Amino acid sequence: MRDVSVTSGGLIRVMPASLANKIAAGEVVQRPASAAKELLENAVDAGARDVTLVLRSSGAELIQVVDDGCGMSPDDARACFRRHATSKIFEMQDLDRIRTLGFRGEALASIAAVAQVELRTKRRRDDAGFRVRIEGGDVEASEPCATRAGTSVAVRNLFFNVPARRNFLKTPATELRHIVETFQTLALSHPEIAFRLVNDEMEMYRLPGESGEDFMESLRGRIEVLFDDGRTDRLVPVEEQTSYLSVRGFVGEPELHRKSRGEQYLFVNERAVRNRSIEHAIYAAYADLLPEGAYPFFALFLTLDPSRVDVNVHPAKAEVKFDDDRGVYTFLKSIVRKGLGSALLTPQVGAFDERLSGRPLPESFSIPTTPGKPSQAAPGKSRAAGDVQDAGRRSAELYGGAEAAGFAHWGPPSGRGRETDRSGVDDSLLWQLHDRYVLTQIRSGLMILDQNAAHERILYERSLDHIQNGVGLSQQLLFPQSVEFSASDFELMKELLPDLRSLGFDLETLSGRSAAVRGVPSDIRAGDEKSVLEDVLAQFMLNREDMKVSSRVNLARSLARRSAIRPGTRLSPKEMRSLIDQLFACEMPYACPQGRPTIVKIPIEELDKRFRR
Ligand code: ADP
Ligand code: MG
Repeated sequence: MRDVSVTSGGLIRVMPASLANKIAAGEVVQRPASAAKELLENAVDAGARDVTLVLRSSGAELIQVVDDGCGMSPDDARACFRRHATSKIFEMQDLDRIRTLGFRGEALASIAAVAQVELRTKRRRDDAGFRVRIEGGDVEASEPCATRAGTSVAVRNLFFNVPARRNFLKTPATELRHIVETFQTLALSHPEIAFRLVNDEMEMYRLPGESGEDFMESLRGRIEVLFDDGRTDRLVPVEEQTSYLSVRGFVGEPELHRKSRGEQYLFVNERAVRNRSIEHAIYAAYADLLPEGAYPFFALFLTLDPSRVDVNVHPAKAEVKFDDDRGVYTFLKSIVRKGLGSALLTPQVGAFDERLSGRPLPESFSIPTTPGKPSQAAPGKSRAAGDVQDAGRRSAELYGGAEAAGFAHWGPPSGRGRETDRSGVDDSLLWQLHDRYVLTQIRSGLMILDQNAAHERILYERSLDHIQNGVGLSQQLLFPQSVEFSASDFELMKELLPDLRSLGFDLETLSGRSAAVRGVPSDIRAGDEKSVLEDVLAQFMLNREDMKVSSRVNLARSLARRSAIRPGTRLSPKEMRSLIDQLFACEMPYACPQGRPTIVKIPIEELDKRFRR
């Protein structure tokens, strides 16, 4: 250790304010974008309806914000550059009810310490405006002036007196990108305010104030103009409220994903924040609907009592803490999932039209009259009320879940994900269409389930659970088999051996490149145990080439793929019932592991429309 005590022998003095401000500025103003952010936030706090950000040389020469907000009195115009000068909080208790973006009273003092700043401001009721010019923290001029109502703050030559900072700035393109991100975030948080961004006389954004009655509509409008890439067709609304928390906004459909987390906007009481736990909750809601390394788009607004959330945990006010972090996590995960679920479930009117008009109408519905022996009935033939009651009675017997259904190889659903409801399925009515789709009446209309995709989802989740927890049941083969592998398959099999065993493969490697298979996972269809191990390994290799997933996920997918009931398999009503029950016990019931939908819901209104009722 070096023995240098730099503090010894010095006299303690209070440093001049200009020096203190310059040091403090480092915390608030790291780059042009942070100055732009502070100025934009002040404009919002001042109640502006119209805000313009003007840049020269991507902010290196000039960062100016012009607003039509409340303006300042001459006294305030002079005072606002002092450290801890703020009109926003006065007492300790105020910290618990912060509604404004700023509250520390540091921004203008910090910016003025490291730039040449000119402020022009006028309150509506005043005749004249007031101007303050300040450079490196020293007031150069303060006098009445002619100006519009509102405030303009021009920051020139940022870091002119801090060469170290200036040299740390990135290329103009990079600094501009940061400013644009800041601008976008603020613009999203206040759709009702008109925003404009101009760089070197070129207008980059002109966002009209969205004056819609409804916040969701305003936000949608803002997203539309801001991103200008048609993404509003791919947004899923999320809107939910409890006594503790209200959440509004949109998440992107899974296909709208991005390669980086750049387009994730979270606002707590209108302040843009980061919160790891919430981000994680949202990812969890997408489950495996997103490819590895992909990030969903979201713009979510959380509103809650300011005393329940600490915005002061981070100097740049970017991180927040909730007094009930766990509750917020669970709530967000479940409402985002619910939103995604209903978006995946309900085909859009246009898409639905396309889907049906392109194909001949199905010839017949197979309506099971006796379990397992569906009879044919002409479409449109009205079913007598007696039939319906009959079906009701039958299904009541069936409604006993997997065990009662005697569909042993599907086993009881794994305990996870029970939060999902049964999606309002009326168990009295179940039909199988062309041995591929299961149709059932639900409260809102008709639900169609793809039997293969649904079963794949069920098996996938169960397999993953088994691999992770090592609890897969094995069904013993009557005659153990010895399987001969190629050299590469043999290596792969050995590598996967622990996971294969967890899945329920009872395996032992033998001499040479063979293995004895004594048991296979109990989920396997009867009669096809023989080749299952080879098939799963082959599928695994295939997946490995075109999917970026972990080997466990791959293995679970491979087994599910291999073992799911195929299209063309006739199901008994018990089996259909069991399929629906188990699907809705899944973490993510709405899509198969590859992301195809498992269920499609057709609202009764849609049918009414098609029959022109
Ligand atoms: P804070 O925003 O934390 O209060 P600032 O240094 O950003 O601190 O601003 C200091 C004060 O100056 C604010 O509290 C506000 O009263 C006033 N002010 C700053 N910008 C504006 C503006 N654009 N319009 C009206 N008042 C402003
Ligand atoms: Mg401020």
